[in-house]
This record gives sequence, C-alpha cells and structure tokens, in this order.
Amino acid sequence: MGAEGEESVVASEGPRRIHIKPGVVGRPEFVLQPLSLFTASKPAKLLTKIHDKWYDLTEFERHHPGGPVALGLARGRDATVMFESHHPFTNRKILDAILAKYEIDASDCKHLETLEQQHGIPEHSFEWPSAFGEALKFQVKEYFEGEAKRRNVSLREATKATPARWTEIAILGAMFLSTFPGFFRGDWRFLFLFPLTAWLVGVNTFHDATHFALTNNWRWNALIPYVYPFFSSPFVWYHQHNIGHHSYPNIGTRDPDVLHHYWMKREHKDVKWLPEHKYQSKWWYIIFWWSVAVEFGLTTMEDLWMLQSNLYNEVVPMMSISGVRRIVHILGRVITITFIHVWPFVWCDSWVKAATFSIVPYLFFSILFMMNTQINHLLPHTAHVEDKDWYKHQVITAQDFGVGSKFCHLFSGGLNYQVIHHLFPTVNHCHLPQLQPIVARLCEKYDVGYTTAKGYVDAIVLYHQHSVSLAKKVEYVE
Ligand SMILES: [Zn+2]
Repeated sequence: MGAEGEESVVASEGPRRIHIKPGVVGRPEFVLQPLSLFTASKPAKLLTKIHDKWYDLTEFERHHPGGPVALGLARGRDATVMFESHHPFTNRKILDAILAKYEIDASDCKHLETLEQQHGIPEHSFEWPSAFGEALKFQVKEYFEGEAKRRNVSLREATKATPARWTEIAILGAMFLSTFPGFFRGDWRFLFLFPLTAWLVGVNTFHDATHFALTNNWRWNALIPYVYPFFSSPFVWYHQHNIGHHSYPNIGTRDPDVLHHYWMKREHKDVKWLPEHKYQSKWWYIIFWWSVAVEFGLTTMEDLWMLQSNLYNEVVPMMSISGVRRIVHILGRVITITFIHVWPFVWCDSWVKAATFSIVPYLFFSILFMMNTQINHLLPHTAHVEDKDWYKHQVITAQDFGVGSKFCHLFSGGLNYQVIHHLFPTVNHCHLPQLQPIVARLCEKYDVGYTTAKGYVDAIVLYHQHSVSLAKKVEYVE
C-alpha cells in the first residue's frame, strides 16, 4: 500500500497475501477469513497503468467500444499487455489520442500503486514495441481487411464468428439440449453423451466470449458465459485466464495456470518440489488429476480461495466488487453445483444410479477440459522459456497441435491453434486455421521457435514427459 494517509489506487482493502510465495514453501497455509467474503468497499475510479503512465478511464468506461467488462479488467492494474493484445488492429494514433486525453499528470501519480504492487507480486514486464509483433499485426490485419471487404462487414466484425460458425454453434447447442431428456431420464447412454456435448458447446462459445471474440456486441460476449458456467465462474475465469495466463504464460510468478493446487501437481520449476510430486510421473495420477481438476479446482476451491484472499492462485489480484456482488457470485456457484451434483438425487430411482449420474459426467467433463488445455503450454520445450518480446514469448511458450485437422479444431474449440490464439486473443477461433500459415511464415523469417505436435497423442505424450521431469526432486533456484 501507499504511505500512510495517501489515497490508494483501488478501494479494495481486503486481506494481504496469506498464502506462501510460489517456490518458497510447498503447501499453502489456508486461513479462512469469512469476513473478507462480504467486506468490499465502493468501486474506485477506473485508474490503470499502461506503458508506465497512469490513466483515469472512469469517464471512458461508457464509451469504450469493447464495453465496460473488457475495460474493467484493467482497473487498478498494470494493463500494458492487455492493452496491446486487445487492440492489434486499431489505429495507433487513435489509441494514443484517447489515452492522452485521460492521462494523469505525473506529479499526481507518485503515490499510486498497482494492485500487484499492493499485494507484493513480483513485477514482470516486456519490451515494446516489437518488430516481430508489428509484422504479425500488419499481415493479419491485411488478411482481415480482405475478409471485411469480401463479406461487406467492418474490420472488427470480420474478426468475430462468421455466419458459418454461428450455424455450427447452433448445431452444437441443439445437440447439447437434445441430451437433456435422456440424461434426466437416467438413460445410461447419456452418462457420457451429456458431458461430451456440454464440452463441445462450451469450448466453442465460452472461451471466445470471455475473450470478447464471439460477437461484435460486448453485451452478448458478457452474457453468454453466464448462461454456460460449467468451466468456472466467468468472473473468476477473467482473472485466471485473461488477466493472468494470457498476459504472462508460463511465468512462474505471474501465470496462475502453473500454480493450480501446486502441492498436488508441479507444473513449473519455480514451484518447490514435494514428495507428493513423485506420483505425477504415473499415468494413473495424471488421469486422476485431470478428472478432479475442474470439479475441485476451477469451480470450487480456487473460486473460494480467490474470494477469501482477494488473489487468484496467489498471483492475480482480484478486482474490487461490492458485498452484494460477492453474495450473487456465491449463489451462482451454489446453483451450478447443485444442478450438476444434487439434481440427479431428485430424479433417480436408486441411490447408486443417482451417485453415478452425479459424479461420473463431471469427472469425464474435467478430463475433456484438461486434455485440451494442458497440452498447449505445459511441455518440456515450452514450460521454462521466456522472451522480453511479448509476441515471441507467446510463440515459444505454447504449441499448436493437429494443424489442418478439422476434428482437432472442433473438438478443442480452436485450442489446438494455441500459439495463434495467444497472439490474437480477440479473434474468433474460426479464423485461426487461416492465420496459422501467416504466423508460421513470420516465425521462420524472424527466427522464432514455433512448434507443432501432430495431434492429440503426440501432445499428450509431451505433456507426460513434462510431468515426469518435474516429478523429480530438483532444488529451487532463485
Ligand atoms: Zn484463451
């Protein structure tokens, strides 16, 4: 926090970090502070830091073309990476002119601290601008300008879901809804069909919507994830995925995705080795881990931990919300979990069947989620590399798989083009196969290590190798 008596950037006055620093000790000290669940102060001004300058965007919140949800992610943070990665095709002069209008005089910023500074989270910055990044943006923009002209839509519209994509989404949605009667009748065939179609419709909508990449209408992008809350609460997801993971992939002190339940599974060398980690070299442990991760991690424990500590996985400070909003959030999670787990006991005629329908579908759903999300970054050649150039960093810390495969594209909701997605997160994944050759060509030209795996099997084997290497006791190096 700032010096005594000084005004803080963000009104959040929640508890300071109570967990241990990643890599220093292995197990978190979990101290429930119930009061923190309901104590939150009034929303503060929308102050944000971009390229070392502070801006007051409170007035701009109503006018931001991407909507207030997107802008709200920047509140109180150093939002340099989100600013750069969310405006790849916007005219720079316009962006600079808007920022200049809201810049806070340097003499008034001395006492300001970002949320990360308040929580003592180590800083991590990249170097801008990037020649590689500029070339990427130029060529990809050229592609979308051609698409916009061909389809007679705006450039922005051209980057979102196409009519063909919406047709696919409608078909997937209809497939998911058509499993409801069978599932709720207790028809055994739907034990796996229900979570399978739930996965397909979710991965092809939720992820793009939370990246503001589904439609040009920010309201739909904001609403749709709340209609489909099975992965996690959208509010928590913005913290984990948009703010943390996408800005700092595989940075041990900033990427929450390398710190999920790290006393059970070690994904990064910055996490101190524990005896329990030796099990992660076994396939059975990986399958166990994958089957419980969404259930006990994303949808429950990590959610609860964030609410009570004001930090997601200890590295992403939570935005300030009102006490009412916290209660609504908790109610939303309770309703979702009840729908998934308690509902079968209402309609099933036997306890065994009810227990099976309560537990198995979500375990299977979790495996589908993990097998599509863990094999893109957590690999021997991507886990511990970094580059000061943000665009290069996105390329070398991820891997594409099944390039050209329509099955991989649909089944992973475009996550198989992970590198392209990380470079252009606001682009709908239906366009990623067309962008892949552009990115691959430029990576070759700029000598950036772009890697691909053949398909799911190759990628999963690489993920296993990564797990094996971190199962071994290796001393933590500062
Ligand atoms: Zn993403």
